[in-house]
Amino acid sequence: HKYVYDFSEGNKDLKDLLGGKGANLAEMTNLGLPVPPGFTITTEACQAYLTTGREPDGLAGQIEAHLEALERAMGKRLGDPQDPLLVSVRSGAKFSMPGMMETVLNVGLNDESVVGLSAQAGQNDRFAWDSYRRLIQMFGKTVCEVPGEEFEHALDEAKSAKGTHDDLDLDADDLRGLVDAYKKIFAKHTGREFPQQPREQLDLAIRAVFESWNAERAVLYRRQERIPADLGTAVNVVTMVFGNLGPDSGTGVAFTRDPGSGAQGIYGDYLANAQGEDVVAGIRNTVGLQELEQLDKSSYDELLGIMARLEEHYRDLCDIEFTIERGKLWMLQTRVGKRTAAAAFVIAGQLVDEGLIDLDEALHRVNGAQLAQLMFPRFQLDHEFEAVATGIGASPGAASGTVVFTSARAVELAAEGKSVILVRRETNPDDLNGMIAAQGILTSRGGKTSHAAVVARGMGKTCVSGADAIDVNVPAKRFTVAGQTVNEGDVVSIDGTTGKVYLGEVPVMPSEVVQYFEGSLDPEHIDNALVRAVHRIMTHADGKRRLAVRTNADTGADAARARRFGAEGIGLCRTEHMFLGDRRELVERLILARAADEREAALEALLPLQRADFVEIFREMDGLPVTVRLIDPPLHEFLPPLEQLAVNVAVAQERGEDVAKEEALLAAVRRMHEENPMLGLRGVRLGLVIPGLFAMQVRAIVEAAVECAQSGGDPKPEIMVPLVGAVQELETVRAEAEKIIEEVTREKAVEVLIGTMIEVPRAALTAGQIAEAAQFFSFGTNDLTQMGWGFSRDDVEGAFFWRYLELGIFGISPFESIDRDGVGRLVRIAAEEGRAARPGLKLGVCGEHGGDPDSVHFFHEVGLDYVSCSPFRVPVARLEAGRAVV
Ligand code: PEP
Ligand code: MG
Repeated sequence: HKYVYDFSEGNKDLKDLLGGKGANLAEMTNLGLPVPPGFTITTEACQAYLTTGREPDGLAGQIEAHLEALERAMGKRLGDPQDPLLVSVRSGAKFSMPGMMETVLNVGLNDESVVGLSAQAGQNDRFAWDSYRRLIQMFGKTVCEVPGEEFEHALDEAKSAKGTHDDLDLDADDLRGLVDAYKKIFAKHTGREFPQQPREQLDLAIRAVFESWNAERAVLYRRQERIPADLGTAVNVVTMVFGNLGPDSGTGVAFTRDPGSGAQGIYGDYLANAQGEDVVAGIRNTVGLQELEQLDKSSYDELLGIMARLEEHYRDLCDIEFTIERGKLWMLQTRVGKRTAAAAFVIAGQLVDEGLIDLDEALHRVNGAQLAQLMFPRFQLDHEFEAVATGIGASPGAASGTVVFTSARAVELAAEGKSVILVRRETNPDDLNGMIAAQGILTSRGGKTSHAAVVARGMGKTCVSGADAIDVNVPAKRFTVAGQTVNEGDVVSIDGTTGKVYLGEVPVMPSEVVQYFEGSLDPEHIDNALVRAVHRIMTHADGKRRLAVRTNADTGADAARARRFGAEGIGLCRTEHMFLGDRRELVERLILARAADEREAALEALLPLQRADFVEIFREMDGLPVTVRLIDPPLHEFLPPLEQLAVNVAVAQERGEDVAKEEALLAAVRRMHEENPMLGLRGVRLGLVIPGLFAMQVRAIVEAAVECAQSGGDPKPEIMVPLVGAVQELETVRAEAEKIIEEVTREKAVEVLIGTMIEVPRAALTAGQIAEAAQFFSFGTNDLTQMGWGFSRDDVEGAFFWRYLELGIFGISPFESIDRDGVGRLVRIAAEEGRAARPGLKLGVCGEHGGDPDSVHFFHEVGLDYVSCSPFRVPVARLEAGRAVV
């Protein structure tokens, strides 16, 4: 079995096997770009190691052979005392997991080869000893789990002994001393000397990279990003090149376009005389890439040429890592770069203009989650608010929240439902929990490619990085800025687009994209690259999609907004919302009625109110279908809670007040109390036991439709019966409804459909029978999930879902994204059997899943006619329905 690939043997499409980094190093090698030679150990080797706990047979020999070939090509041997070949050992999984796994640099250095390295570098002892101490530090920390702080303390001590804060002030002797100190730390923690055998160093480093796949933070990151847990990482063994050989060396990161806005231009950070991870870690402040032009024009020009070539080759924004060793440019990594939601749309549009991709491809390159992000509100700034600091707008959005300084505190407060801003000097992978919990992240150090920035962008979290006017004091739990002190618990607002930081809570306003959807920005006539790109891609999605998109709306205002957002009708109008507010009293009367005439009086009072509601909605949705669902929730939801009522009655009795009415109410509440109300008297069951209730609603709907039609409108009412589990239930309701429809439409013909929700598993499994009585089905996937899994939708998310997510029983809440295998199967069965019984049966979905990107793809596959979702999700569903086709 082949476990090791030379860079010349791979290509960019082998990410499963070689990981992203390995596949792209191979691709660049084959493009003839300057990549330091090396080889990649496959993810299969990692998987084998992780399952069996040892390296698979044959791996050691293959590594040996590839190492020998590398040594021949370089004319050096690994760790040779005179002239050592040194390598880096780098992780690289299929999906990028920034900073989550391990890397060890300078493998091959030992007490002897450090001298050879110095000779190689022109008797540069300082450089050689600095490289050696870095090896012991990285190797100790990542391979042998020596606490990193110990090395950092030793380094700090060496610096303070020298009276400096700058690593560069340490000379060769200082660093030699530091190596000794590091070795002692290493021996103390591991019980052995630092390994001097180069091949042993290499093998241990490879093993550590394999194992880092299961490091806690990597596991957490994968869960957050929904990366499967069994992929494993590849390991790249790469010839070392040095950015820390002096002022004519350096290292940097660059993007071929701005990953924040999508704008074309030179975009990146450079750090002279530095090695590898210094830039990404945000340890020293970098300079803009443009300054490299002054420092080293020929490398700069070569780099720009390579960046253009990579963009053309990958047909996308690329990010790269490079090192310059004494004026010679080396490419250490490239990949299709992460970007903000806005940049994703803008770049997709630009690439279409540049002829690199077509519109179908552009539609692939964006997604509904990104569009949803672009619909977040923006800060509404007027003179009252002045920024106290400006950092780098590292990940857009407007976030306000309570300041916290540690990951643990962020998690704690977020669990209490508070919005928090995590403030750090810089973040590192251990802050991941806090970053997930926080609304936004603010750092005082680090560029756009620092850990905080990269991770926040990936998560879609607002982030301002490198706001260096802020002086963060974590132990004291405060920061100071512009002469003011902000303590833990104070509120700040951060703008991840402009990088501005405000004290207090800044109010928000709709984003430009929302203004565009609202119709108040004309994409043809404004100079806004984002809005134009969104318009173009949405138009294409609309042209491609087969699924229609409706909305869930209960009021005229919601219906109107959703229609502006592109809704093609209402898929769910929940009528219970019309029973609240001052109408509650009428509902109480209905519930408390002892005799038929009392009940009828209550219903009669409700009828015109309901009718007026429907008129408003039909007008807003004129010409488009409106599915009105008959009342669904248990009626006691309209009554006061038992305990409160009991207390009120007791208190009033005490005072000697007349409580006859309250007592009747209390008795009714007691009578109607249910242990499992979601499985009790609700939905169609209400219609079957409370005389006249459904009839009143049906009459209100049809009378409203007739009224609209009479005044020249084109209402398209669809009456929907909830919670049906047996066709007989539907038949009973339908027979009554048809009589009313027949009577009311006598004066003016209006077509009224009668259908049902499919939200009880039995309904899904008897869909063939139910279709005989239904003109349409709408899947209520909220209840179908609740009843399919037996999960109380109101209780489980906070109670134990975290554990289910932790155990990987599911990767995301089944209430958020459809469980394809179980609940999805019910949908599939019902769709097939329903259509078999009644060809042309109209099928839709109106559970929350109708606005979830993954679920929209599923509903497309199953062949539904439409999805229905909340107004703000309508554009997301339109986009995803288009993406499901291309
Ligand atoms: C459903 O169950 O999916 C549904 C849309 O109805 P409700 O959420 O009102 O129960
Ligand atoms: Mg339901």
